[in-house]
Amino acid sequence: MTVNPSRQEPARECGECTMCCKLLGVRSIGKPSGTWCTHCTAGRGCAIYHARPQECRDFICAWLKGPALDGQWKPSVCKFIVFAEHGKGLKLKVAVDAARPDAWRKEPFYSYFKNWIAQNAMQDAALLVLIGNRAIAVLPDEDVELGGWSDDDRVVVTRTMTPFGMRLGALKVHKDDPRIQAAVGE
Ligand code: SF4
Ligand code: SF4
Repeated sequence: MTVNPSRQEPARECGECTMCCKLLGVRSIGKPSGTWCTHCTAGRGCAIYHARPQECRDFICAWLKGPALDGQWKPSVCKFIVFAEHGKGLKLKVAVDAARPDAWRKEPFYSYFKNWIAQNAMQDAALLVLIGNRAIAVLPDEDVELGGWSDDDRVVVTRTMTPFGMRLGALKVHKDDPRIQAAVGE
């Protein structure tokens, strides 16, 4: 589970949604991503709510933050979770239920993702879709399969000047790769 350093009090309530308790990993209790947490009662919530890990306390998805995303973006409805990571450039991650691997490609979601990356890619932003341990980088003109993904992997958006203008690409690199700290140009 990824801690959001700019956590704000959510505008909404999770209600019956428990999707992050399935789709995201919680390192401190050894919970892998993509499987239900043993503490979760589906549709009811966390059985250890008052003693849940700090990672769980700190996590807030984009829908919960509201109101930019309407009800069809609620993770229990759309079957994926959108959340932001701040570092070198804004990273938007989409954790998708492997039982519904194409959920993020449905409309209006896919067009929203394409528009978001088109508006932000030149500011070191990236949009990464995670389906189980498979990663896909979404770019304005293509979706780049990055293969298997681990906590040590990062995505870097590359820019290549061509006779037809700037072309964007995406690379999977190790978290210690120096290219993370510098905008990549080729
Ligand atoms: S995915 Fe979002 S709305 Fe659903 S339980 Fe987690 S934080 Fe709450
Ligand atoms: S400890 Fe509780 S809040 Fe955290 S993933 Fe498990 S069920 Fe969800």
